[in-house]
Amino acid sequence: MAHQIVWFRNNLRVRDNEPLTYGAEAAKKAGGLVVPIYVLDPHWFGTTSFGFDRMGRFRRKFLMECLQDLDQSLRKLGSRLWIFEGRTEEVLASIAEQIGAGGMVAATEFAPEEQAVVRRLLSELRESGVATRLFDANTLVSQEQLPFDIHAVPDTFSRFRREVETELDVPALAREPFELRSDRQLSERLRDIGAVEDLRATEAFRQVDYEADARACLEFRGGETPAWKRVEDYFWRKDRLGVYKNTRNGMLGGDDSSKFSPWLAHGCLSPRQIYHEVKRYEAERGANDSTYWLVFELLWRDYFAFIVARYGADVFRLGGLRKQPLPWNQDAQAFESWRLGETGFPLIDANMRELANSGFMSNRGRQNVASFLTKNLGVDWRMGAEWFEALLVDYDPCSNYGNWNYLAGVGNDARGFRWFNTLKQSHDYDPDGSYVRHWLPCLRRVPDEFVHEPWKMSVPQQAESGCTLKADYPLPVVDLYQSAERHEQLYRDALKRQ
Ligand SMILES: Cc1cc2nc3c(=O)[nH]c(=O)nc-3n(C[C@H](O)[C@H](O)[C@H](O)COP(=O)(O)OP(=O)(O)OC[C@H]3O[C@@H](n4cnc5c(N)ncnc54)[C@H](O)[C@@H]3O)c2cc1C
Repeated sequence: MAHQIVWFRNNLRVRDNEPLTYGAEAAKKAGGLVVPIYVLDPHWFGTTSFGFDRMGRFRRKFLMECLQDLDQSLRKLGSRLWIFEGRTEEVLASIAEQIGAGGMVAATEFAPEEQAVVRRLLSELRESGVATRLFDANTLVSQEQLPFDIHAVPDTFSRFRREVETELDVPALAREPFELRSDRQLSERLRDIGAVEDLRATEAFRQVDYEADARACLEFRGGETPAWKRVEDYFWRKDRLGVYKNTRNGMLGGDDSSKFSPWLAHGCLSPRQIYHEVKRYEAERGANDSTYWLVFELLWRDYFAFIVARYGADVFRLGGLRKQPLPWNQDAQAFESWRLGETGFPLIDANMRELANSGFMSNRGRQNVASFLTKNLGVDWRMGAEWFEALLVDYDPCSNYGNWNYLAGVGNDARGFRWFNTLKQSHDYDPDGSYVRHWLPCLRRVPDEFVHEPWKMSVPQQAESGCTLKADYPLPVVDLYQSAERHEQLYRDALKRQ
């Protein structure tokens, strides 16, 4: 019997899952079984180069829920999820050998570390004659569908979008799940070779529970089932898709934007499922700018995946994909003020506290805090990216490091020194201060005119609003305009020397 290992990566779903569909068909042909495997690699639970957890508590909990949900769905189909701990390539090669697998199938991941794992795995499997197959199951379009070679992905998103959109042919969804089978002998074998029986007893999930912050914009629960509940709520029940373009920049509301990102990052949802659901919505409730815009945003996601496929490890290096020699600092005090939400700029601090307390931050917030760290504080952008990596419940290496490259001015599309004027952004996107008050309780009673510039309050005004500067809320760590000018000059000088 030639069993087919379906190695689950960031495609933690049973629907629209090409590797699973393919694996099931291949197993059926060969008279074998599908063996769904997930490997918890200790590497993910180590620390980043600046000493943060690679996977903090928000994502750990979410991942555990995803695995539990996937296991339940596979059980309904007659199988289950087998979880192992260890170095991915070694664990998989050993399982393949011990169960005499005929093939292995998985989804492509585009980031260099994940690609390296596959390269090492392939070389091990080749020797034992296990046929392997990878599918681009987590992007809107696959590499083969791109109208250009992966090594020639356009340097600007606008060109990428134009070229991809003209020929946009999002694949139909993979066939719905079928019946899977299990077999007692095989199950015993998998247990013997170390399958995890109790997920909560694993090193990764031992201390995973925490009390959710009631101020969080949404409760993110991992898994395909909660993912579809969110789609149902956002598209159909609350009918928010039709106004998405106008609300997507909001920072406070759970329904300001889709909040699909954690489920997309873990593959509980595929972008193709969202695309086809948008088409269904358009057919039933009408197409407009908003319905188009959600697909437009999904193209950003694809863009960063393919940019990382093109530039590989450079995207993760200080000079970014353009190898820009910019003069970054690693000023610990400046970085800590940013990381802890104590810069004295309410928009920055509220967003950083939201991230630290809930694992999420809106896109508008991410752009502002990334700009502040790099353009006002001049701090090494990788420190910020790693802090995001540790905390974001939707962390995705391509989207995270791709966006950081872009905002730090070391990526494509970097047209000179562009920065987000924190004060202007505060007034444009939080005019009445309700967002900053939500995350910074000390500003609750501060009058609207000072809520984004509390340092302008006189001593009696501070007393009256219950917010004493320095004691309750910090003074600004930099002068907003002078710091931006200084870093712009440093940026120009560095480029002149190039
Ligand atoms: C510095 C920085 C770091 C980021 N890190 C991540 C990350 O680790 N993981 C992640 O999924 N997104 C990341 N983003 C992109 C974006 O902020 C989030 O995808 C978005 O805020 C998620 O909220 P949403 O699902 O409600 O988005 P929506 O506005 O509803 O958009 C729908 C989907 O489109 C995709 N999308 C939207 N904007 C972007 C974008 N700029 N880049 C890539 N995809 C996008 C996401 O998959 C998102 O779920 C980052 C952005 C910045 C500026």
